[in-house]
Formats: sequence, C-alpha cells, structure tokens
Amino acid sequence: MFNLVKGTHDVILDEAQKYTYIENVLQNTAQLFGYKEFRTPIIETSELFLRSVGDSSDIVRKEMYTFEDKGGRSITLRPEITAGIVRSMVNAKLFAMQDYPVKGYYTGPCFRYERPQQGRYRQFNQFGIECIGITSPHRDAEVISMGFDSLVFLGFENVTLKINTLGDDESRENYKKALRDYFGSHIENMCNDCKERYQLNVLRILDCKDPDDQEIVKNAPKISDFLSENAKQSFETIKKDLDFLNIPYEVDESLVRGLDYYSGVVFEFHYTSSKGKNYGAIGAGGHYGKLVSEIGGPEVEGCGYAMGIERLASVMSDDNLFEDLTDTTDIYVMPLGERATAASLGIANYLRVSGYNCEVCLEGKGMSQMFKKAERRNALYAIIVGDNELDNDEFVIKNLASQEQFKVSSDDLLKKLDELLNFEGRKHFECCDGDCDCDGDCDCAESEENKGCCCSHKE
Ligand code: AMP
Repeated sequence: MFNLVKGTHDVILDEAQKYTYIENVLQNTAQLFGYKEFRTPIIETSELFLRSVGDSSDIVRKEMYTFEDKGGRSITLRPEITAGIVRSMVNAKLFAMQDYPVKGYYTGPCFRYERPQQGRYRQFNQFGIECIGITSPHRDAEVISMGFDSLVFLGFENVTLKINTLGDDESRENYKKALRDYFGSHIENMCNDCKERYQLNVLRILDCKDPDDQEIVKNAPKISDFLSENAKQSFETIKKDLDFLNIPYEVDESLVRGLDYYSGVVFEFHYTSSKGKNYGAIGAGGHYGKLVSEIGGPEVEGCGYAMGIERLASVMSDDNLFEDLTDTTDIYVMPLGERATAASLGIANYLRVSGYNCEVCLEGKGMSQMFKKAERRNALYAIIVGDNELDNDEFVIKNLASQEQFKVSSDDLLKKLDELLNFEGRKHFECCDGDCDCDGDCDCAESEENKGCCCSHKE
C-alpha cells in the first residue's frame, strides 16, 4: 500500500463523473461566448511565474513546487494557468494579427504548497478563461457575466459576486502610498505575514485573515477615494452593465486578490451551500494591465477568471446539484452458453452503435448471478440470449425494475428498445439532424433514402 502525497486526492468513479460534468458545462459555456481551448504544459520555467504571478505574492514566496531539472533549469509545477496561457499566445504570435480580443479557455491541474484543509489541496483543478486585447470595460463586464452564467448553468442559485477595482497604475500608486502611511503606525502590532506584505506589496495586507489585523484593516483608507477619473468611469460602466444584465453584486473594497498581475476590476464568486458550509471563493478573476507585456507580448490588457473544480464539486454535492447525473447501464446482455456469448458480443456492438450503453456478461455465469451483476451495474433492461433465441432469431428483453418480459424478433429489437427506453432526443450515429424531408410521420430510419438515420422522428 502506498499513501497519497499529502494534499492530493484521487478523483475516481462517481467523483470523476462529477468533475467531467462540471468541466463540460464550463467548457460549453465558454464556447457559447466564442472561446477556444488551450492546453499548455504543467511544467513551466520558474521565471514565468516570478514575472507574472509576482514575487510579492504568497504563491511565489511560499507555495510553488520548484525544482531543478537534470539540465540545471529551474522548473515549476504551475500554481495557476493564466501565465502559461498568455505565454502560449505570445509564443504562437496570436497577437500579431491584432484581431482582438484573443479568447481562450483551459482546464487542468495546478499545484500549490498550501496547508491542506477543507476545499484546499496541494494539487487541484482549475477551469479558466482569458480574454486578451481588451479596450473597453464592457468586455470586463462580459467576462464577469460569463462566469456568472456558467455557475447558473451548473445549477447555482444565490451566488454572491464580490467586485472591486484596483484602479489604474496612477490610482494604485497613490492608494499604496496612503496605505503605507496608514499601516506604518500599526505594522509593529500586526502578524508576520503582514509585516512582509508591508515591505513587498502593501495592498495584500487588506487580504489578511487574522481577526486582530482585520480590525486595523477596517479603518484603512479605501481605494474608492483614490481612483482616477478614468478608473472610476470604467468601474461605473462595469457595474451598470451588471445591473443591466440583472447580475447582483456587492462592492467589497477589501478584495485585492492574491496574484500581483491584477489591475482594474477584480471579482470573486462566493457560495455558501444550503447546509451552511462556506466554501470561500469558488471562482475568481480580474483585469490585468501589464501581464501580457511582462511575458513578452504587446502592451495589451486582458481579463480572466479561474474556477476551482474541487470546490464546485463539493458544493454541488452538498446542494444536490448533480441530480441529472445518472449512472445507469441501458442494457445488460446475458448470454447462456458459449455460442450465445460470441453472438452477444455482436449484439452488444450493434446496440452501442445505435446509441445504447450496453455491457455483456462474459464471465460464463448462471442466470441468477447474471441478474445480480445487472443489478450492480444499475441496468435498466436485460437481453437474454440463448441457443433457442439464436435458432429462432429472437430475443427476450426484461425490464429489471418491473420484471416484465418481452419476446421480440431480431428485426424489431431496436424498435422495441427505442420504445421501452423512450429514446427521446438521443442521437444515434449517422444522424441527419432532422434535415430530411419527412415530417416525423414515417419510418424513415428504415427507408432507403435515409438509411442509417436516427433523426428527429424519435423526438
Ligand atoms: P486563484 O487562482 O487563487 O485566483 O483561485 C481561483 C480558484 O481556484 C479559487 O476560487 C478556488 O476555487 C480554486 N483554488 C485555489 N486554490 C485552491 C486550492 N489550494 N485547492 C482547491 N481549490 C483552489
């Protein structure tokens, strides 16, 4: 027996099915907004994260898995994926055409050496999007709305969207100066992390979770008093767009995010499950001004977000948002004897290409054991195949819930199953997608003209 590495977890069986479901919904939503998929390496040069995530962030200072490879290069397991995506866009010269924005989405594992706790792992999965080449705050609003819509598509109600702006460079520099003045007289009494943050990036003190420090943070100057006219206008436009789109939000002036590359709007999606468990942020993101140029690209701005698949899966399990996920086998084929076993392999394949998920018992079991196996597979129907059935070119179909049995000829097998399993809207292969001349009142799947078509007539 080998133990898991601390902070990691296996995602298997039902849990894996949940992850795939979540990823599919998030990816489909991104595609609806015109985003294309990016897959970049898990290892990148350490320098990439120093330049992007920033050497004042907790991630770079304490949490990176960094090692030297055999060639003496400093390599890091990606702690986040934005930097790699932007690097890939720069390397592929996607900005050369200046056909902005360049829009990409990604899914995959990230690694942070954090203290493992509820909802926090050392290897976890993120889905995220990046929209680069932003010239208007409406684009930021669209990105936020896409994140919100994704959560709605996953079945979330009452997501709390927190937003803030970190302003433009000018606003932020003035604000940081005011924070340094304010915290200067308190820093001696604050936690060690804050002392470091005071030196490295004073903004990050606003994010401190220490209750005593939070009392001090409460009275700190607010960014809203330091915003330039431009920064104010942009933030107002984003808020107006969210109002127009009916997306509720809370402005939280203590929201600064843990990655140094953010500027302009930043946001987090929070959710407390119906059982009252607060999972913290299930997704977060923001606008970045300098990231692309830091990584060697042009001076273009971007906006993106990342969602944590582990947290989404936990909250959704807590709140029964996976109701639609079924783990049933449509048909369990039960062969009786050697000849029937070989024939069953063919029958099962025929059913699979017709769109049914189907398993065959190949273990040479007796009838009662095969029924037990079918039950464990959550099978809906069994098809019993014996020598008699093969000789007569027919099958016995059994409804495993009601125990009802039907005898059908092999020609009628598919028709009967479609009827029994209510094959509504499910596509067989070679579907004409409804693009044929019939108005639904025919057997056109069998007609010469539409041979092999499954089509809408089953709807
Ligand atoms: P970040 O890249 O820090 O902005 O995080 C984006 C999202 O990833 C968060 O909102 C979480 O849902 C998720 N996340 C971040 N760190 C972890 C972690 N250590 N374990 C699990 N999920 C995480």
